[in-house]
Amino acid sequence: MLAIVDSTLPFLEFGKADFVLLDNVSLEEFMANLKLRFEKGRIYTYIGEVVVSVNPYRAMNIYGRDTIEQYKGRELYERPPHLFAIADAAYKAMKRRNKDTCIVISGESGAGKTEASKYIMQYIAAITNPSQRAEVERVKNMLLKSNCVLEAFGNAKTNRNDNSSRFGKYMDINFDFKGDPIGGHINNYLLEKSRVIFQQEGERSFHSFYQLVKGAPDAQLRSLHIQRDPTAYTYIKVGGQIKVLYHVQIKRDYYGWQGSRDLWCRHGTAWFVELTENSKLVSILGDLLSTKDENVEKALLYRTVATGRDVIDKQHTHQEASYGRDALAKAIYERLFCWIVGRINDIIEVKNYDVRVHGKNTVIGVLDIYGFEIFQNNSFEQFCINYCNEKLQQLFIQLVLKQEQEEYQREGIPWKHIDYFNNQIIVDLVEQQHKGIFAVLDEACMNVGKVTDEMFLQALNGKLAKHAHYTSRKLSPTDKNLEFDRDFRIRHYAGDVAYSVVGFIDKNKDTLFQDFKRLLYNSSNPVLKAMWPEGKLSITEVTKRPLTAATLFKNSMISLVENLASKEPYYVRCIKPNEVKSPLLFEHERCKHQVEYLGLLENVRVRRAGFANRQIYPRFLQRYKMISEFTWPNHDLPSDKEAVKRLLQGCGFEHDVAYGKTKVFIRTPRTIFSLEEQRAEM
Ligand code: ATP
Ligand code: MG
Repeated sequence: MLAIVDSTLPFLEFGKADFVLLDNVSLEEFMANLKLRFEKGRIYTYIGEVVVSVNPYRAMNIYGRDTIEQYKGRELYERPPHLFAIADAAYKAMKRRNKDTCIVISGESGAGKTEASKYIMQYIAAITNPSQRAEVERVKNMLLKSNCVLEAFGNAKTNRNDNSSRFGKYMDINFDFKGDPIGGHINNYLLEKSRVIFQQEGERSFHSFYQLVKGAPDAQLRSLHIQRDPTAYTYIKVGGQIKVLYHVQIKRDYYGWQGSRDLWCRHGTAWFVELTENSKLVSILGDLLSTKDENVEKALLYRTVATGRDVIDKQHTHQEASYGRDALAKAIYERLFCWIVGRINDIIEVKNYDVRVHGKNTVIGVLDIYGFEIFQNNSFEQFCINYCNEKLQQLFIQLVLKQEQEEYQREGIPWKHIDYFNNQIIVDLVEQQHKGIFAVLDEACMNVGKVTDEMFLQALNGKLAKHAHYTSRKLSPTDKNLEFDRDFRIRHYAGDVAYSVVGFIDKNKDTLFQDFKRLLYNSSNPVLKAMWPEGKLSITEVTKRPLTAATLFKNSMISLVENLASKEPYYVRCIKPNEVKSPLLFEHERCKHQVEYLGLLENVRVRRAGFANRQIYPRFLQRYKMISEFTWPNHDLPSDKEAVKRLLQGCGFEHDVAYGKTKVFIRTPRTIFSLEEQRAEM
């Protein structure tokens, strides 16, 4: 029979395996349990079907083949809490009930989201394809290996995390009717491309650069005109972290190289050559971009502009030329990254699937996105990342806290409302049409003439002066936490963040002179050419203003959330135990703060007062009517509801259920398992 293994007597020393089982639901007890489990090496704990995970900052011996076997096909409560159990639950829902499911992993930067997503993928790969079909093995292999390449090009050392994701990733895995992976698709979200040209102190650019300079063979570096010494390149040394400080990263720099080698080989390294008006560098760049030197020089120094009917070449100022150079470097890297994702998608996309022959093709989605972050200096990128985390928190609230409670009310189940902080107000502050921060920013960018970041800040102050979650130096001059006139501050669900407006306008406009697009479109390297289709247009044909970075990001977040909401969600909530990457330190205040803003206590309360399972009366009867003489083969009671009552009374489950208007609610999964057993014995 089932047992909640971790919490039965001999295991009590590990604390409660599910926070729902706490004697009292209070923050103190929650924290005590979380800490005890962390100290005992039990990094996972449930809240019902939600996994709470604390980053152990050490290698754990809990992901091997034997552990996978223990979780395979089991019910959630049969084994100690683990990511594998949630992965298995999502897999079972997909396979048995034909549901599209998704696993949403959230938590701040460094909390362990990316590691969790990899373990989940490994688990799914390990338990599928028992018959070892070659095509399925190929797909699994590609899905797993794609991580390595994407991390090389999309992750970097930040001051929060040595392997921080600087892009968002949502990966769908498609399954056939047998439950084997037959393909997948990756959506990537806003790569932090400003990192290509600048890093804050203590940080690095993307891993791929260091892999290249450190790992590539001499001959290849020569052919790419690259020196082995990374300090030769301003772009990758501004953060001052050329030397790799951590053992794990040294490994990453050398070993990761294998994965990314081919990409560098074929696509050159324009971004490595720092452009100056130096003819040698111009010719290197011409070589790497497979285009004529004089065209390179012209694109760097001049801009073609249309004035009325005339088209003239206007020479850049020094500042404009540097701006253009940086924009080019960022754009090439970003397009390379999107190209890599596109190539991976070409390889893993489902091929030759015929629904009529194979049945419905179902999906498990895994979301691993950049976590909430606060730096010394926060800019447009942090603003977007933190907005993204607000959206995900809102989804969690909608699905776990709000809908659940609304259903009890709708069904007339006695229910005491459980209060929680609803962050919709902050989501609106950012994304609302006409009034939100993105709208104000877009409006500023629309203006003809020179609009400065300061003017944008003024516009924000004008529009949002009264908003409870917005303030700035101008509005709160005595606020000690707002150091600079250029800052505005948002009270996020996860904490206050002061953003510097410097660069907002530029980053949002994301201008790349048409001259560069034309230059690259005219490259004789077909891959480069294909990355720049807009380069086809001549200067007089370019009329439409491209969408701003903020609008593109907002739209992609809205469609991401819609997509997630259409699937059956499973949650992993990651907690970062300390700021110093220590396996021993459980910083109480830090952890408490995360537990609070993630809404975990409210989650426990809703879950505890709530019901694990619910079914409409006719469906319940259809499934279980054979276990009661009152309902088999048909009942003569006035309604299905009465019949279900009779059936459950007869089984002795009266205490564990509640009867709503259209559905029966069952509190513990154990009751369902027991009903299932009785059904099987019939
Ligand atoms: P970001 O939002 O910055 O991308 P993240 O939440 O994805 O952060 P990870 O990169 O997954 O964070 O984790 C940071 C580091 O913590 C890892 O590089 C690893 O050293 C350690 N870590 C995380 N999870 C585990 C785990 N389950 N076992 C061992 N170490 C872990
Ligand atoms: Mg990550």
